[in-house]
Amino acid sequence: MNQAVITNGGVSVKKIDPKTMESKLQKNVYFAGEVLDVDALTGGFNLQIAFSTGYAAGKAAAKGTDMKQIAIDGPAGAGKSTVAKILAERLDYMYVDTGAMYRTIALACIRKGIDLADEAAVSKVCAEADISIKYENGVQVMYLDGENVSEAIRNEEVSKAASDTSKFLKVRERLVQMQRDLTKEYNVIMDGRDIGTAVLPDATLKIYLTASVQVRAERRYKEYKEKGIACELEEIKKDIEQRDHNDMTREISPLRKADDAVEVDTSDLTIDEVVQKIIDLWK
Ligand code: C5P
Repeated sequence: MNQAVITNGGVSVKKIDPKTMESKLQKNVYFAGEVLDVDALTGGFNLQIAFSTGYAAGKAAAKGTDMKQIAIDGPAGAGKSTVAKILAERLDYMYVDTGAMYRTIALACIRKGIDLADEAAVSKVCAEADISIKYENGVQVMYLDGENVSEAIRNEEVSKAASDTSKFLKVRERLVQMQRDLTKEYNVIMDGRDIGTAVLPDATLKIYLTASVQVRAERRYKEYKEKGIACELEEIKKDIEQRDHNDMTREISPLRKADDAVEVDTSDLTIDEVVQKIIDLWK
């Protein structure tokens, strides 16, 4: 015993879920490290067992207990996704881009060639579409019928179509459920149009991010130019105004600032300044 460095014997690993380290016999009981019936030669192996099982057990045990949410709403081009991605990285939260989900449904409708104003047809496509959200290396990836469509949903045609199809009840019901489910398992930073008002009314912090139409159009213009996509500033401005109008005047979950949201106008702020402002509010 004077020279002992590890213990032999302990809780049988057969009675433990290896992904979560939760006991198969007793819910909400987790085991890690030397208490397990796992032992190896010296050389760091036992330390690694302790670190890995401790990490898995800690993560699983914390899930669903005290999850936090930051809701960021606002019109297109206000900087939501840029800011949300940086915040997610800094806080080690999951970034949930809800717009990408609406875009995926829109893409499914476009591919089926249906009339985007036809509520019954859109609802049917939405109900039948095999869409899923995955996180690959910490990045959200959208799948439609098994295909990674994260790139395919980023164009003006899909933007406009998403604005048209997102107003329908069945579309919103399905996607809001998916969004809420994610918050059961992860701390999230979720951006969209209705996060603070409808999806997560009890979010820990709500931000309403906005900027003038001119500034938002210029940002989009720059983004497209950098990607080599041909575009006209005036056209983009018109599209943004049209989308604002659609999103703000629709009947179900229109875009508006939640009463308890903090408004941040990004027109004259750098990205770093916006991020800092939100981190200060978060603290
Ligand atoms: O943010 P993004 O431009 O990707 O969103 C595309 C469209 O999806 C929006 O114009 C809006 O109509 C819809 N949307 C929504 N609710 C959300 C997120 C996006 O209605 N929470």
